Amino acid sequence: MAKIQAIRGMNDILPEQTPVWQFVESTVRRVLAQYGYQEIRMPIVEQTDLFKRSIGEVTDIVEKEMYTFEDRNGDSLTLRPEGTAGCVRAAEEHGLLFNQTRRLWYTGPMFRHERPQKGRYRQFHQIGVECFGMNGPDIDAELLILTARLWKELGLAEHTRLEINSIGTSESRRVYRSALVDYLGQFKADLDADSQRRLESNPLRILDSKDPSTRKILENAPSLDDYLDEESREHFERLKALLEAAGVNYSVNPALVRGLDYYGKTVFEWITDSLGAQGTVCAGGRYDGLVEQLGGKPTFAVGFAMGLERLILLLETLELVPEHVNSNADVYVTAMGEGALAPALVLAEQLRAALPERVIVSHCGGGSFKSQMKKADRSGARYAVILGENEVANGTAGLKPLRADEPQAEIAQDKLADTLAAALAN
Ligand code: ATP
Ligand code: MG
Repeated sequence: MAKIQAIRGMNDILPEQTPVWQFVESTVRRVLAQYGYQEIRMPIVEQTDLFKRSIGEVTDIVEKEMYTFEDRNGDSLTLRPEGTAGCVRAAEEHGLLFNQTRRLWYTGPMFRHERPQKGRYRQFHQIGVECFGMNGPDIDAELLILTARLWKELGLAEHTRLEINSIGTSESRRVYRSALVDYLGQFKADLDADSQRRLESNPLRILDSKDPSTRKILENAPSLDDYLDEESREHFERLKALLEAAGVNYSVNPALVRGLDYYGKTVFEWITDSLGAQGTVCAGGRYDGLVEQLGGKPTFAVGFAMGLERLILLLETLELVPEHVNSNADVYVTAMGEGALAPALVLAEQLRAALPERVIVSHCGGGSFKSQMKKADRSGARYAVILGENEVANGTAGLKPLRADEPQAEIAQDKLADTLAAALAN
């Protein structure tokens, strides 16, 4: 019978890969905790209307990327393509936003029906951060300072750069949009097909078209910058000053508009040049209109999401995964002969109690001395503890260094934990 395989674009994350994931996840978790951010966990499935109303009907995500289905009650549900909409829905539903400030984060799988390729999958994982009730630009700056610290902790500071822009209020974008449409309309026939379509539906998205002929036309297009309202302009100037004071390098990219409708004022992307076209590892911005748009009171909001697959790909491509991340054993405890089985399990337990930070792997399944030592070596452990019936009778254990050319030592069992603690510390 043919074997059933995973769905295209949805990846298994295998035991060899999970240590890097855990390294990235735990680093992010630690940094977010340092800044006082709280975790929130939302369902993976939401009502389809939530995404239509927040992300926007004429965006790529809603037009062609969502996994939408009818459940058994005939309701239209969608696997979340991103986390902001659900986070706002949950925060609003549980009264987290009224008259208070919030710094929230979440992590989990997101689903988009895109063409799978390196750095682009149909199930992928994000860590998202959303802040509510703060007008900024100080909180905008905090988010960028926080991400800059994160890149440093992950060893990626030299491999990421920050682009920022201000896309103004919806009113200033409306005026700009019609100027842009007037201009581009004159060259309609020379635009790529996507851009022609967007001229009606979402003209701002034409600004990040990659098509050479469209790019050429865009060179002389009106600039959003000239249409910015005074408040957005001032917000952006203050943000830039804060970033400079904090030593966060950035460049202003006037063509940066982001693909989701809910953004306004500040938008930003962290980009790497080491992953080809899928170079954006973290993206976000301000979305002060969204809470109200979803039925809540007007609430200041700003956030970002980073793609974990891309961050991990980047660490692996640049060979920046720290060595300690991949070792999954410190000590391997063997048992030679039936009479050593129970004592070996007991001894391993004593070592775990005494050395709670260390990984103590017990050999299970019997086998010859040679095969047990082979397994000990493959485990990556630095030491093998060898327990045979003689050692059991003497109250000792053999301690064999596996990564250094040193002889095996005979150690009293009650001294073993201290000996290992000292040996593993250097
Ligand atoms: P892109 O321009 O690469 O399509 P996007 O603008 O659609 O990205 P966002 O919706 O802002 O991306 O999501 C934030 C981050 O999530 C991206 O910067 C990226 O790191 C990651 N991401 C988005 N879509 C995917 C995907 N299909 N596969 C893997 N990671 C993704
Ligand atoms: Mg996309």
